[in-house]
Amino acid sequence: MLKASIIAKKQGAVVEVPDPIAKENWAVVKILAAPMCTEYKAYLAGQVNAFLGHEAMGEVVDVAQACRVAPGDRVVVMPSYACGRCDLCIGGEYIHCEDSLDFNAFTNNGEGRATMAQLMLKPDWLLRKVPKDVPDDYAALACCGLGPTFGAIQRMAVSGYDTLLITGLGPVGLGGVVNGVYRGARVIAVDAHPWRRQRARELGADAVLEPGGNCLEALRDLGKDRGVDKAIDCSGNPQAHRLCIDAVRRGGDVAFVGECSDETSICISRDMIRKGIRLIGSWHYNMADFSRLMATICAVPEQLERLISHRFPLEKVSEAWDLQATGECAKIILKPWEKARV
Ligand SMILES: [Zn+2]
Ligand SMILES: [Zn+2]
Repeated sequence: MLKASIIAKKQGAVVEVPDPIAKENWAVVKILAAPMCTEYKAYLAGQVNAFLGHEAMGEVVDVAQACRVAPGDRVVVMPSYACGRCDLCIGGEYIHCEDSLDFNAFTNNGEGRATMAQLMLKPDWLLRKVPKDVPDDYAALACCGLGPTFGAIQRMAVSGYDTLLITGLGPVGLGGVVNGVYRGARVIAVDAHPWRRQRARELGADAVLEPGGNCLEALRDLGKDRGVDKAIDCSGNPQAHRLCIDAVRRGGDVAFVGECSDETSICISRDMIRKGIRLIGSWHYNMADFSRLMATICAVPEQLERLISHRFPLEKVSEAWDLQATGECAKIILKPWEKARV
């Protein structure tokens, strides 16, 4: 099979490697849509990597035994190789599993854990079936396109009563605009990048703002009750973390979805006790909510076509990474089996 690889700084390649082999309840999936996430940061930094990607939709093509999936099933590939046995896994919070399976020890040739590839290998319980009327690329948005903010929105019970702030309008934040608008919330979006603010507007954000300046005052004014009701940070930027905490009204909720290694300072008394706010860390969604997320996907096809700004065949992966570096894109879908047009 073919797969994407980073071989040097700003140099991607497509390499041929052995096909993964089905074993026990691990099925081989032919990847039909591989959404691109943060891999471009490694491409820009020159971090050599031959196992790229964690988001995929595809078709089961081989199983080693009777299991939860069969050849021909169209599936969303859930991230991670969680154990499937601990309380977190059984409760649907598999993303937080502390006993991940040892992929290399289990597999015959070590291949099959990357999604920017033509084939991959996954335990059957991490493959969720896609309803037949849902197009491949839209189903693939049940990974990081819509998933992280869907999880946060479920935890915060966002509804039509809420003004929802979203900071950071990369693909995850733009997915948050789609989720928030679908729930009926009034969405206010903040990002420094004009292309992304414009796309948030097209996705139904009620107001879009640039960070800095009088952004905080503007947000407090836009919120009906001295602040917004709920906020989701998708930027991973400590200044945006602060903006969310400061812009949310007393008794509101803030979810942190975007990751970073920098520290954000919080004053427990001023920020939390006196304000009575709830801070949530949210990485992904509970597996039991998969059908609700799929129902969202079925309901908003025009929004999803805007959320997917570009599609590239696998062999043009470097072009796709270069585009991601400009910020002038939303979600990009890599198509491992499509040939580039000449
Ligand atoms: Zn587990
Ligand atoms: Zn992702």
